Amino acid sequence: MSTQIQIEKVKESKSEGLDFNDIPLGRTFTDHMFLCAYENGTWQAPKITPMGLIPTHPAAMALHYGQAIFEGMKATLDTNGTPMLFRPEQNAKRLNFSARRLGMPEFPEQLFVDALKTLVGLEKNWIPPQQGSALYLRPFMYADEAFIGMRAATQYKFIIMASPSNPIYTKRVRLYAETKYIRAAHGGTGEAKAAGNYAAAILPTEHAKAKGYDQVLWLDAHRFKSIQEVGTMNIFFKIGGKIITPNLDGSILAGITRMSVIDLLRHKGYEVVERPISIDEVVQASNNGTLEEAFGSGTAVGIAMIQDIGYKDEDIHVSDESPVGQMVLDFINGVRAGVVLDELNWMCKIQS
Ligand SMILES: *Cc1c(COP(=O)(O)O)cnc(C)c1O
Repeated sequence: MSTQIQIEKVKESKSEGLDFNDIPLGRTFTDHMFLCAYENGTWQAPKITPMGLIPTHPAAMALHYGQAIFEGMKATLDTNGTPMLFRPEQNAKRLNFSARRLGMPEFPEQLFVDALKTLVGLEKNWIPPQQGSALYLRPFMYADEAFIGMRAATQYKFIIMASPSNPIYTKRVRLYAETKYIRAAHGGTGEAKAAGNYAAAILPTEHAKAKGYDQVLWLDAHRFKSIQEVGTMNIFFKIGGKIITPNLDGSILAGITRMSVIDLLRHKGYEVVERPISIDEVVQASNNGTLEEAFGSGTAVGIAMIQDIGYKDEDIHVSDESPVGQMVLDFINGVRAGVVLDELNWMCKIQS
């Protein structure tokens, strides 16, 4: 499977004595990383090395012109202790979609999956055993050619890091519908998982937090009416018995959790509609009592239940309970832990 990946192991693992109940979120990294460089028009020898610093020239183009993209995924253990990945081929495809949009070279999709399997197999002891926790994986690619000038770089690095994580939101979230700043417009990079998208979102997110909300709800760039998505989540509403989620119109990130939620809900017999939905429709549904629930979907959170949405100095109350959202979250977490039947064939087991 991975004969072409060279492996240099650490002498001593840092995983001994790791307390999975007390992991500093986003700051704990496993012993190794996967690394592959692009030079002379091709991806060079892929390798796994001890996690460590990478020398970077100050003129590295990603630092100046922002050619940087990433993915986010999770590895979990089944009841036999076998590591599993959630639909990794989908992340491989999306990475390359993002790469094309930013004028970057594609990364071979089979090697992407093999690299993940090899790295996760090696870092098995770092996968938290509790349901809802996981080994978060962060594949990313950036331009590291040292050059001042605006053009596609000729040198890149593709790296995968791994970081054990616990659930992020265990409480219901409060969103702030932003009417001054935008995240994405048609023809922009909103459909790509590009680092720059998040740079533009940081200030509005800080403002929303200062007002007592957890995340920004993004509206369309022209009229500030159509709902797009949340920070790093796609959004679903249940109105009058139907599940509604904004259609992928070119400015929304095509979440793999989003696609899985749609498939699962249809499989369970729900009517799911992908169509434009405006903030006014949500206000109206809240006022006339047909707004039943809303939730966000994304790898990091799984499913986050939405309590209310701040819009123009008022709070739209959504709901205090989210039975459909909870069912989806329990299904996803259960499948990831190997305790719920994987009816839709999402999981990819890593045999050692
Ligand atoms: C990553 C991300 C999502 C969720 O995508 P998943 O594949 O489900 O993790 C949604 N929106 C944005 C903006 C994202 O960056």
